[in-house]
Amino acid sequence: MLIQSLLALSLLTAPVQDDALTAEGQAIETAIQAYAAKTNDQRREIVVAQLREQGFAPQLASFQGGNERTGPRPGANVVVTVGEGDKDIVLTAHFDAVPLRDGSMSQGVVDNAGSVAALMEAAGLIKAQVEQAPGSYRYVFVFTDQEELGLIGARKWLEMQDKSRIHAVINMDVNAYGETLMYGENVGEASAFVLRAMRTQCAERAFDCVAFPNYPPSDDRVFSALGLPVISIGSQDAVGAHQMWLAFNGGQSNGLAEGFVPPVFQRIHSADDRMEWVDGDDILRTATFVADLALRLARDE
Ligand SMILES: [Zn+2]
Repeated sequence: MLIQSLLALSLLTAPVQDDALTAEGQAIETAIQAYAAKTNDQRREIVVAQLREQGFAPQLASFQGGNERTGPRPGANVVVTVGEGDKDIVLTAHFDAVPLRDGSMSQGVVDNAGSVAALMEAAGLIKAQVEQAPGSYRYVFVFTDQEELGLIGARKWLEMQDKSRIHAVINMDVNAYGETLMYGENVGEASAFVLRAMRTQCAERAFDCVAFPNYPPSDDRVFSALGLPVISIGSQDAVGAHQMWLAFNGGQSNGLAEGFVPPVFQRIHSADDRMEWVDGDDILRTATFVADLALRLARDE
């Protein structure tokens, strides 16, 4: 295609103003706003309070964490369970944020209050489903602490678990906007059936899903390192998702401009991780997808 016609096309498809948010999407954005620029202890308290508001009985799982840089630092994951059974579907999202260079806290809304809100939404959807039709699986929602210090909260949580109970794990990191789902295929052989379920559901729902041979690490690595079935899901706009694919998988000839950094990586861990990027309706859409993926994993053997 000629550059000329590309330009014409881009004028024709200039972004239009988003429709007004749905009430549900607005509620999600309000919930996420609560986390902006709080300390990680405050963020944990907000997770607990929001879960209680939704009728859950969250448990704190405390641990001694920290790393070489921070020294010993206590932390606590927040856990809720739904349903009963011998096997678990585990869903994770970290609630902690990073301090910025000037010492203030990142607002941590794209990374990762958006995923926390999505996971809470998914928990509500799964609870409603399980109450209607109890299955044979338990769903364990783990809001992890100290992911940003080196996946510490997830590791400490897993150390305390009977791993033979874990059927599959869905991790959510960076889910604040966009309708394109991204997931990594570098999650170990045991995860093949989880990736298959993902592909099937993307096709059935006509979701734009991008599989990454290499996907950046998150809490999923704690599970894949032990050979447990896991998938890590993120979301963003289609252009950003494909730029990120190229950055991580395109090698030397990825076609991206010299020094190009995918926009999402300019936002997270910076002062630009702001509410402006957060879209409650996109989060609701992702949350519904993830809830259905968890229910699917409990159905498919
Ligand atoms: Zn993150």
